[in-house]
Amino acid sequence: MGKHAEWDEAPGELLRAGRDFVLADLDRDATPGWSEGKAAAEKAMAARGEELSDLQERLFADGRTGGDRSVLLVLQGLDTAGKGGIVRHVLGMLDPQGVALASFGVPTAEERKHHHLWRIRRALPPAGKIGVFDRSHYEQVLVVKVDGLEPAEENEGRYAELNRFDRQVVNAGTTLIKVALMVSYEEQGARLRERLERDDKHWKYNPGDVDTRLKWDEFQGAYQEMFTRTSTEAAPWYVVPADHKWYARIAVTELLYRALSDLDLSWPTADFDVEKEKARLAATMSEPGYQAHEHQDTDGGRGGGGGGGTGSKEKDKKGKKGKKGKKKK
Ligand code: ATP
Repeated sequence: MGKHAEWDEAPGELLRAGRDFVLADLDRDATPGWSEGKAAAEKAMAARGEELSDLQERLFADGRTGGDRSVLLVLQGLDTAGKGGIVRHVLGMLDPQGVALASFGVPTAEERKHHHLWRIRRALPPAGKIGVFDRSHYEQVLVVKVDGLEPAEENEGRYAELNRFDRQVVNAGTTLIKVALMVSYEEQGARLRERLERDDKHWKYNPGDVDTRLKWDEFQGAYQEMFTRTSTEAAPWYVVPADHKWYARIAVTELLYRALSDLDLSWPTADFDVEKEKARLAATMSEPGYQAHEHQDTDGGRGGGGGGGTGSKEKDKKGKKGKKGKKKK
């Protein structure tokens, strides 16, 4: 079919944590749904990146013209799981103007004065944008729980609170994609060792990472609990085996691609008279023989002939072509 390899099976269903998901059974070295290996994955990912970029532009345009849709990619994972790599390699394929990235570390003094969701709410993506959370509100049932940073009874109430919060976010028009990148204990050890052995990676190493690693089992337990109690219909968790960085990247690319294409966004129709504007513009152009209608092939698709605007597939295709032609100019 296409020039590049394809998924055997869409990763969405394969990676979604259902009711009886058991983290201990997850093979973190596996590549569910993809059997073509690394080189083919990288090629396919680049191709998807172009489609993703087109969909992102539609979302952005929708947001600019009154739409209320947005997408939020939540990334969780222990140190070295590859959250930064996802941001760089997956989101890096998109136009930075349409991406809103927020990272959540240890709460600052200011943040500590507020409810734990305060800083999260402030970082939610506005309409038209793809938000990315590098760590998130879910730290409240991970590090906060494992390190006992709040009383256990209080922490117990967080699961229901997080589910309520996610529901509000979804109801406000945001597609929530919650991704947990899960590396194996061995792979994490190897990645930390590399950070210590290479001068150019020392900046990534934090002595606290080993303290966290010493609590591996507690963290795995907290992750299990989080999947069991907060993987909901409205906002499921996708558990991504992350020992192969290339797999995690192509899988997240695909999750993002599916979420955006499910929004089924067409290009906004012009809220002005396209023909009239062409004529007005033509009157300002000095090139000899310039005629508005001669240019219909390159910019006509977008306006769609003066605001008929049903957003049909055929017209969408023309719109895309028109835009690309315009960009290459
Ligand atoms: P990363 O470890 O994500 O690659 P980093 O090393 O640059 O990032 P920061 O982003 O500054 O570190 O902080 C991450 C740390 O903040 C993690 O150890 C995480 O557990 C901790 N953290 C995040 N949210 C909370 C929270 N709500 N309460 C306490 N600690 C938190």
